[in-house]
Amino acid sequence: LMNLTKKLIEIRSMLLSIDQNDALKLPSIVVIGSQSSGKSSVLEAIVGHEFLPKGNNMVTRRPIELTLVHTPTPPGGKPSEYGEFPGLGLGKIHSFSDIQRTLTDMNLAVPASEAVSNDPIDLRIYSPFVPDLTLIDLPGYVQIASLDQPESLKDKIAALCDKYIREPNIILAVCAADVDLANSPALRASRKVDPLGLRTIGVVTKMDLVPPEQGASILGGNRYPLHLGYVGVVAKATGKSNSERTSDVVKRKEDDFFGAHKNVFGSGSLMIGTDTLRKRLMEVLESSMASSLHGITNAVQLELEEATYQFKVQYNDRRITAESYVAETMDTLKARFQTSKAEFRKQVIREKLKMMLDDKVMDVLEQLYWLDKRAKELGDLALDSRVKGPEDVDSYWRHKLDAASSLLTKSGVGRDSTLLVADGLRAMIDSIASGEPFTYHSRAAERLISFSHDILRDRIGVASDQVENCIKPYKYEVEVEGREWELGRERAIGLFENEVTMCEKKLKDIRQKVGGSRRLGALVGYVRNLEEQDRERKERKFKASLNDDAGEEVEEPVAESYRYPAAQILDAKHAMLYTDRIAILKLRMNALRSKRCKAGPENDVFCPEAFLNVVADKLAYTSTMFLNIELLDQFFYEFPREIDSRLLYDLDRKEIVEFARENPIVRRHLDLQDRKDKLEEVMKQLNSLSTLRADPQPKPRRN
Ligand code: GDP
Repeated sequence: LMNLTKKLIEIRSMLLSIDQNDALKLPSIVVIGSQSSGKSSVLEAIVGHEFLPKGNNMVTRRPIELTLVHTPTPPGGKPSEYGEFPGLGLGKIHSFSDIQRTLTDMNLAVPASEAVSNDPIDLRIYSPFVPDLTLIDLPGYVQIASLDQPESLKDKIAALCDKYIREPNIILAVCAADVDLANSPALRASRKVDPLGLRTIGVVTKMDLVPPEQGASILGGNRYPLHLGYVGVVAKATGKSNSERTSDVVKRKEDDFFGAHKNVFGSGSLMIGTDTLRKRLMEVLESSMASSLHGITNAVQLELEEATYQFKVQYNDRRITAESYVAETMDTLKARFQTSKAEFRKQVIREKLKMMLDDKVMDVLEQLYWLDKRAKELGDLALDSRVKGPEDVDSYWRHKLDAASSLLTKSGVGRDSTLLVADGLRAMIDSIASGEPFTYHSRAAERLISFSHDILRDRIGVASDQVENCIKPYKYEVEVEGREWELGRERAIGLFENEVTMCEKKLKDIRQKVGGSRRLGALVGYVRNLEEQDRERKERKFKASLNDDAGEEVEEPVAESYRYPAAQILDAKHAMLYTDRIAILKLRMNALRSKRCKAGPENDVFCPEAFLNVVADKLAYTSTMFLNIELLDQFFYEFPREIDSRLLYDLDRKEIVEFARENPIVRRHLDLQDRKDKLEEVMKQLNSLSTLRADPQPKPRRN
């Protein structure tokens, strides 16, 4: 029968880890009593050591699930006693004062404002001197809350005890002999749920503090009868030497006390002493476990059938592990990365860089040519048949062309192109990190982003220097071949055509906005007039200042500027800009289409656009080549390795499980699978017990 309890205690902890469902509970002994009733002393006498938190500051704030495991000393071996907190992973603790300290810390970790917590502490004690028992130590009932305890403390403790004294648990009601049983909160609570005392054992402590006859009469149980009876103890272990076991000291004291009053206690009809209590607890737990066996087997069977069914229906019996999920996720990540790699093919990068450089070319052209008052002159030159060749052109334009080329080559192409590609890579990573399944794994996503940004940060400086270095020759000289020239000329025309279309579209929008072309015409006329007046005014002012004619007041234009709303004036100004831009673009397109420009690169001074376009193309080509080596290849080489080393291999078993469980779909799958596995295991163990038959009736008290 011993074996049965032991097995069922194991099964009980497995069931507890499956869920807190009442139907799946095997009985345990719940220890209740008011503060100072001697609860701790009794538990320590059973365990044989002092291990519970001590102090007058409400030291038990959480339930302690205490599992005692009888471990016989191997023949010829030394007895070994130790404790374990399975929830903490501290391993075996051989010193009971360390156990006591850990329990104290865990209790004190409950904030004073909460005072008690429902979250139980799991403690196992292995020893050859303990019986197989499970006991739950609960905070003691308080009568009067002290000043620093919340009002509700009394109720909170009572509620916690009520939760634990439900069936099928056995209640160990601790009462002190020197306090009237009528005042025992433990007995009162027990009577509410177990009026006949079928599953309540009374423990009367401090028997030494009342006259023997009075103590004996309490144990007789006539006033408050309990089916399982009362056990009287003297659990005080004062005067214990370090080498002594608490249980031995207590036994000695009890022998002394009960021995001295043989006349009262010697008849054998009363249950006395902690030894008797220990045996009694074993008997009661055994029979209670045994009688729960049938019910629990049925309950587990039902739960198992349900879990098996659900597992089949929901997952088609497909098993997963946290590890497989993590590996799968990393594979998905790498696959997604491979796909995105295509966006960074040379061809694509080169086009992007070219677009960036085209913009730069436009800026340079605007700055150096379009705003130049002699711009029209250059256009005429290209079409003028009297001009024989570049040598007939004013050196002004030769300087312009050199300035334009150097503005472009010295515009920081190395840095800008590197940043452009790096930004593209960042955007790619950010988009991977914000997609499934990383939506569930925000911490991993953060790490992914942070380490890829790190790789980029490390590379950007080198890459940009390298690119800048490689385009250096173009800063001094650009050689253009005929074929290149022709391409550049055509591309320049294409770009200008786009630009004209864009400007026309903007003009159209403005025209619509202000209410038609007539209205816009009037507006523009008005603004031109204003500008003209303004110019004249400034001129007069200037002349006046030259004549030192400070006396003459120059009148300011009034009211006139209010004829149109400020927003429309602004529109008109924009319209003028676009019109001017279209005019110059058309002028330049004519030049680009001229025979002279078509003739070849020696005519570059007439058509700077074609020349700059060729330069931009060469810059884009060279930059792409070196960015590919210095940035992209490096990044695509390091990234998958970093995934492995920083996301994957970094994880220990616990973190792998945590990671997998962040995904709710995986969590549900794992939970159900785990539940099913555990239930199967419990069922197997329960079935193996069916050979052991047990007496299902708890024995009545002896008398
Ligand atoms: P708890 O608050 O219910 O856990 O009570 P304790 O076990 O801490 O005991 C309260 C006090 O009563 C302590 O000072 C114990 O030494 C003392 N005590 C416990 N059991 C006995 C007993 O059987 N006889 C005597 N004389 N004192 C006891």
